[in-house]
Amino acid sequence: MKTLAILHASQLVTLAGPKRPRVGKEMSELAIIRDGGMLIRDGKIDIVGASKEIGKNAGDAEVIDTGGRVVLPGFVDAHTHLVFAGNRLDDFEHRAHGESYEQIAAAGGGIWSTVEKTRAANEADLLAQAKKHAAWFLKCGTTTIEAKSGYGLSVEDELKILRVMRRLDQETPLEIVPTFLGAHAVPRELRESEYVDLVINEMLPRIASEKLAEFCDIFCERGYFDIEQSRRILTAATKLGFKLRAHIDQLTNSGGAKLAAELGATTADHLEKTDQEGIAALKSANVQPVLLPGSVYALGSTSYPRAREMIDAGLAVVIATDFNPGSSPTVSMPMILSLACTQMKMSPAEAITAATVNAAYSLNRGDKIGSLEPGKRANFSIFDCEDYRELAYWFGFSQVHSVYVRGKRAH
Ligand SMILES: [Zn+2]
Repeated sequence: MKTLAILHASQLVTLAGPKRPRVGKEMSELAIIRDGGMLIRDGKIDIVGASKEIGKNAGDAEVIDTGGRVVLPGFVDAHTHLVFAGNRLDDFEHRAHGESYEQIAAAGGGIWSTVEKTRAANEADLLAQAKKHAAWFLKCGTTTIEAKSGYGLSVEDELKILRVMRRLDQETPLEIVPTFLGAHAVPRELRESEYVDLVINEMLPRIASEKLAEFCDIFCERGYFDIEQSRRILTAATKLGFKLRAHIDQLTNSGGAKLAAELGATTADHLEKTDQEGIAALKSANVQPVLLPGSVYALGSTSYPRAREMIDAGLAVVIATDFNPGSSPTVSMPMILSLACTQMKMSPAEAITAATVNAAYSLNRGDKIGSLEPGKRANFSIFDCEDYRELAYWFGFSQVHSVYVRGKRAH
């Protein structure tokens, strides 16, 4: 592979620092190099420094002059529901007319409508739709995403979704980290207890033996899976070698944060209703919070999670899109940066840390991606601005100039 010399970034935002998730004041330290550059060999970052120095070492490398633009590590989106069929445009319009989520679900919309369409779709159709969405992620500067199953809710349909993710990872530049979320909802044809048994006795062992997922997730919420059912499923998953993520306290404070801490989950996601006690529980087990302001915004709610208190408590906060057809139809990490700053009062620097290096650690990939440091993958994006804060400040349009994955242009 050819060698690349990236030169003349107004700000090369490296996020170089300790080899662990960043907490407290560290979240504001972006390790910016002005008029910065990088030398890239074999898809990996070789040297990072001032453009002058990189130029001296460039030899016969292909030079990419960024022309005074901002360069950032590729965004790492640690919470998406990537693979589904159809959309929820009708729900969207009904919500605009003031109907509640419950009314919409009762009228045939909601998650169940996506499950029916996803079950009816074959693998090729799902792959085609997911490829379109994967291209959107790259277009917005995201180079790695976590992707959850959960719109199949039967053994074969959950496996189908996870196989689509594997093919997507192989066939597009976007890196996919797969998560099994069989416990997303109870399918209509089964009773709750029957479905929990199916997840534990059939789905988890099959997915483990076919190595189709790295993480197991659950929707721990009133009306979905309660604390005891969540504990059973997540404990079974741990025994099979899965690491844990969990949808916690989105609609009600159900004590899920304590459960995530008790089970040593890698992340606890949503946390819109988590209080100080929950925050303390997460801290006691160093669970990383994954905050999803896009879904709060898109549902027209104002109940944003307490990001400031979490950062002050020393939690290694992550922000993500929660891309899904119902509550968060966006792939745009820049939009999430804007929401993090305007609605959750994070600083632009904290938001960038939460969307890159902290997200990478939450996916067990902190040693490979999430910052621009020698030895890491050359996943980076060039933005049409001079100051990184512009990414969160200007909102509603794309400032992405170009995107690279392993040193190759991906957008
Ligand atoms: Zn979710």
